[in-house]
Amino acid sequence: MIVKTEGIVLKSSDLRETSRMATFLTRDYGKVKGVLKGIRKDPGKFGSSVEKFSLNDIVYYQYLNSDIHLVSQCDMKDFFSGLRQDLERMTAASYAAELIDTLMPAEEQNLEIYNLMQLFLKCLQTTSDIGKLVQTFQIKILSLSGFKPHLETCVRCSNDVADSPRFSLRLGGLLCGLCKDSAGEATPISLGAVASIMHIQKNNWEASLRLGMAPFIKKELKYVLNHFLVFHLERHLRSTRFLS
Ligand SMILES: [Zn+2]
Repeated sequence: MIVKTEGIVLKSSDLRETSRMATFLTRDYGKVKGVLKGIRKDPGKFGSSVEKFSLNDIVYYQYLNSDIHLVSQCDMKDFFSGLRQDLERMTAASYAAELIDTLMPAEEQNLEIYNLMQLFLKCLQTTSDIGKLVQTFQIKILSLSGFKPHLETCVRCSNDVADSPRFSLRLGGLLCGLCKDSAGEATPISLGAVASIMHIQKNNWEASLRLGMAPFIKKELKYVLNHFLVFHLERHLRSTRFLS
């Protein structure tokens, strides 16, 4: 079957002498792996160099008995050139691409994650606050991939968490003052940081980015989100390895 869609390159690598293999995050078919035959022997064969993070119109033959398909056309739509000259911006884009590649199952459409990645790359070209952009992306991707932290009430007893909340990485939410942290892994979190995460969970991308954050809240969010993602990704990676 011939399929036409658009896709963002999550990663690409050389394959044998003349070809390249790429993983695309596509608008219509989710995460798709494809081979671009002959692209290194004849760079003019495709209208794209298949650089990481570029947005392309693609046409591919979808094989039913393989998870690697044959890309016949690939034309660049957006290179996101504004992020290419800056190491910090490139690192942030690589992080987002890796996160999506790890969290998303193969060939399952998710338009919200697709749109999120496009917005992230667009904003990453011009933002003056890369950290805030990454944290907003982290909170959104957690919600969209089924790891949304539970912050409304205590994750263990459902009571209100009025003061001195702690965030449990293992349980994926807040613990109230009465509930014990049996594994000793919960980390104190300020109500301001909790309110910031909830604001971003509830609001769209533009409104989320308009939220002002004090430096200490940014620092807290960075710590909690990075640790939470590492914790769940490790479990996720272990379980996918176990399944394959
Ligand atoms: Zn509780």
